[in-house]
Amino acid sequence: MKINLLAADVYNKIAAGEVVDRPYSVVKELVENAIDAGAGEITVEIESGGKTLIRVTDNGGGIAKEDLALAYAPHATSKIERADDLFGVSTLGFRGEAIASIAAVSRMKIVSKTADGEAWSLASEGGALGQLRPDAGGNGTQVTVRDLFFNTPARLKFLKSDSAEEGDVTNMMSRFVLSRPGIAFTYIANGKVRYRSYGDGLASALAVVYGANILTNLYEIDADKHGIRLYGYIGDRNFSKPNRTYQSLFINGRYVINQTVGAALTNAYAGYLMKRQYPFYVLFLEVPPEIVDVNVHPNKADVRFADNQVIYGTVYSVVSAVLDGNSRALEYLAADSAPKAAAAAETGVSPMAEPLPAAQKGQTMSLEEAKKELQFEIPPLASKANIPRRFYDEEPATMSVHAPAHEQEKPQEDDAFEENKRLLQEREKKAQRVDPATLVYKGELFRTYLIYERGEEAYFVDQHAAHERLIYDKLRAAMEARAVIPQPMLAPYVFNLNAQEFAFLQKNFGILREIGFEIEEFGSGTVKVSAVPSDLIHIDLAAFFGEILSGLEGLRAIKLADLLKDKLASAACKAAVKGGERLTDGEVRSLLERMDGDMGLKCPHGRPVAVLVKKSEIEKLFKRIV
Ligand code: ADP
Ligand code: MG
Repeated sequence: MKINLLAADVYNKIAAGEVVDRPYSVVKELVENAIDAGAGEITVEIESGGKTLIRVTDNGGGIAKEDLALAYAPHATSKIERADDLFGVSTLGFRGEAIASIAAVSRMKIVSKTADGEAWSLASEGGALGQLRPDAGGNGTQVTVRDLFFNTPARLKFLKSDSAEEGDVTNMMSRFVLSRPGIAFTYIANGKVRYRSYGDGLASALAVVYGANILTNLYEIDADKHGIRLYGYIGDRNFSKPNRTYQSLFINGRYVINQTVGAALTNAYAGYLMKRQYPFYVLFLEVPPEIVDVNVHPNKADVRFADNQVIYGTVYSVVSAVLDGNSRALEYLAADSAPKAAAAAETGVSPMAEPLPAAQKGQTMSLEEAKKELQFEIPPLASKANIPRRFYDEEPATMSVHAPAHEQEKPQEDDAFEENKRLLQEREKKAQRVDPATLVYKGELFRTYLIYERGEEAYFVDQHAAHERLIYDKLRAAMEARAVIPQPMLAPYVFNLNAQEFAFLQKNFGILREIGFEIEEFGSGTVKVSAVPSDLIHIDLAAFFGEILSGLEGLRAIKLADLLKDKLASAACKAAVKGGERLTDGEVRSLLERMDGDMGLKCPHGRPVAVLVKKSEIEKLFKRIV
């Protein structure tokens, strides 16, 4: 297809200003170009996290010899011509900026061959074009980018470590593998094949990215409502993840982070997941191009909808129907899918039940009609007044192809949580440190609470919470001053992580080793633990690493060594307490001494250890005073 220079009045209408600032953004642009060129096979190679080499090879339509120089020009694109074309763009690119901006900050070479032409190449150094030369190669295009930012030391300085940059590229590639299950991708980092997909469908792509077992935990859905199609895979009610890096949403083929859809999903899962658990989903939303605007800022992976309520309502009603297992679930579960029967059984919907007539299936409705129908169908419509604050304020997904989550994500605030915390703090204010000698033990209540009297006050001490807290303190102190003795395990513990989790953990291998773990990379995205600290032999490793990876998004500000010590201690403590240590009478008696009279203590999970009840409060109960 012919490349044109966009007229000024056209490119002025494009939300532009793209900044190529990281290797993954280069990979993203080049792969998107390959997809737009209709490639069925795409190979991506990177070295040193993409800093020294990024090469993308495709078998798409190619660039004609006479267009090669134009491809390097700013505002040159074959994808749109007139401003009107912006409504209904079906390609990923349309700005005509990427090649020019990448070429300006690297040494780039494009080799390309169209079906009816020869192979030609054109190189550029910092944007200065070389000579057009005959080259060799099959149909398609190969773009090589070396020494990214070699001429912009400031941007070079802001790059992360090779492994962190590689992690972000890998994350991006996982999203391409998922979003284009019809394309065969090969992704090679430092000579190692990280992903190889075969272009044979979404189930297969999921297995490439998440391992073959993933499907057993998922529902496959495919729903057509109001001219909007929602399909893909969602985790079942019991499948949760410790962070939001397992959420992918593609709208008309584009990876996006969208608040409306994110809120609908969060709300649909709200009844099933506990706090700090996040759903897994890989979802595709297809909407008529005229009701979605893709021309938002290029560094923001988002789109705008003509009507958010219809989108919210559709996503919410489909996903919650499947999760709740109501009669509509069958309508939305993908036909002929193996998980379907299992899913139906699990949701309690009999596969024999007569499916509801799929009234709207495949039929397009006007927005007005759709809205009217939705009002009857779903209670929590997306007016802010109806959605608990925490849902619509929260970024629906953490990962962005433009700015990886751990960079942009603020730790989440949660109203209910905050309120609870406030309440507890109020309580705690009353229970402060007292001289243990002034406390008189009065007995035990419900095998849980120890009662102490002190003048006009009574203290109820939760013996389990107190004990937990004491173990925790001991472990935390031991953690500071301990001799590190790694204890080899009989069978190593091996587990899989996604790219962000892996990059995060790998960055902290050093700290984990200092603490006494023997931990190493064990194949792509896999980690092997072959020794644990000798004082933590009984630790539940799955739970421990789950905790470390939870809240991956908010960890940046916290000093990780501290956090790890904390998690380590609390994980160890949980294990110790789970070990069923019943308090002996002696321990009950000495508990208070060991607490050193600190009645403001909290257990490692934040619950109070002691609660103070004043004599006057009891007298009020008996109406002795008012
Ligand atoms: P855009 O993708 O927004 O059009 P780019 O700067 O990314 O802008 O690319 C400029 C043009 O170069 C594209 O419009 C396309 O015609 C051509 N091009 C770039 N990469 C490829 C490729 N891999 N295969 C075929 N054509 C390509
Ligand atoms: Mg492009």
